Amino acid sequence: MRTFTYEKPTTVDAAVRAAARPDARFVAGGTNLLDLMKLEIEHPAHLVDVNALPLTQIEETPDGGLRIGALVRNSDLAADSRVRTRYAVLSRALLAGASAQLRNMATTGGNLLQRTRCFYFYDPSMPCNKRVPGSGCSALQGFNRIHAIVGASDACIAVHPSDMAVAMRALDAAVEVTSAAQGRRVIPIADFHRLPGNTPHIDTTLRQGELITSVVLPPAPAGRQVYRKVRDRASYAFALVSVAAIVDAQGGTVRAARIACGGLAHTPWRKQEAERELAGRPANQRTFEAAADTLLAGAAPQRHNAFKLPLAKRTVAAVLTQASS
Ligand code: SF4
Repeated sequence: MRTFTYEKPTTVDAAVRAAARPDARFVAGGTNLLDLMKLEIEHPAHLVDVNALPLTQIEETPDGGLRIGALVRNSDLAADSRVRTRYAVLSRALLAGASAQLRNMATTGGNLLQRTRCFYFYDPSMPCNKRVPGSGCSALQGFNRIHAIVGASDACIAVHPSDMAVAMRALDAAVEVTSAAQGRRVIPIADFHRLPGNTPHIDTTLRQGELITSVVLPPAPAGRQVYRKVRDRASYAFALVSVAAIVDAQGGTVRAARIACGGLAHTPWRKQEAERELAGRPANQRTFEAAADTLLAGAAPQRHNAFKLPLAKRTVAAVLTQASS
């Protein structure tokens, strides 16, 4: 592990000033960054510990939504009574993630920023465009069972590992950020995570020195919320496929629906066309399978993960069935 300097500011202004230098990184729960530093995959020269900042509250917004401080721990967010009753899909997604110990440390902001779990990204002896741009992608010809089937590129086929982000994508959350250079801005979560393209080393649209201060949930949409995660073991495993769905159905007809998937792409995967197709249609298997086909159109599985396509289709249809019942 390389040496680094460390400071722990107590105000947001001081934190973003401290992070203005290009070799600085914020650290909160440290559940991903510290592992990456030990492996010398990430090597910031200066760590800005944000744990003393006043970003630990969950507050009502005037329009009936919630503002979640970036330092709210995943366990606390999942257990919040307002989240459990109004945003059940988020509470369930959080509880599906990691282990209880990790959820007690991991923060809302950090969860959005966690990096891929691609085996080759964590192995410094193997080429990886995300770790070393231009070095190649070992997963393309390697063991790519956990990798992307949609939205990938020739440079990277990694997937985003977060459960929380998938639920937030379905809920149309917005990420509030600030920096010393550019002040405050709001990034819709649809624009926060990036597809890999030719620059897979850039995971998000966050700019250098920007700090996530909160995530805002708009008022909960009408309908039943369901989150389902399919994985190799019952806990402490990343999703092969996950689905967050919110379906407003009445009298056997879908009025409106939202579907976001994890484990399939470099971002939480959502397509408005699939949701538009569902509106006004009978809430049945045929409708749901057709929507899944639209959501997964253009899928290009790799040698070891062809199973993900039928698995994703079945899981989307099953979750839509459950959410519309
Ligand atoms: Fe690296 Fe992405 Fe290829 Fe994995 S899939 S080896 S993260 S470039």
